[in-house]
Amino acid sequence: MRHYGFLPRPIPRTPGAFLPNGAGAKTGLNRAISDAGWGVFLTILADKAESAGREVIAVDPRNTSRKCPECGHTSAENRPTQAKFHCVPCGHTAHADTVGATNVLRAGLVRREAPPA
Ligand SMILES: [Zn+2]
Repeated sequence: MRHYGFLPRPIPRTPGAFLPNGAGAKTGLNRAISDAGWGVFLTILADKAESAGREVIAVDPRNTSRKCPECGHTSAENRPTQAKFHCVPCGHTAHADTVGATNVLRAGLVRREAPPA
């Protein structure tokens, strides 16, 4: 099975009102995906992306929150808390969500530029 990495984004509840970005939104998204099924979700996602002039690229999310975007060191020890990233060998610090988003973006760009298998 192919894996997809998704970042929690605010979900519009009513026009102009948004839930806070975070685990609750991600849980809601995961529930919506499991209710509708991956095929339906990916079809809707691809349509939305195309209409926004964007591209959907599936990436392997493993270790995207544990890999240092500065030096590449990958370890669970780089995550002292859920929100904090602190690379043990090089000392790079950032919000863990920023690190995860950076690594997911890079993985997607690598896949986009790779020749078809
Ligand atoms: Zn590092």
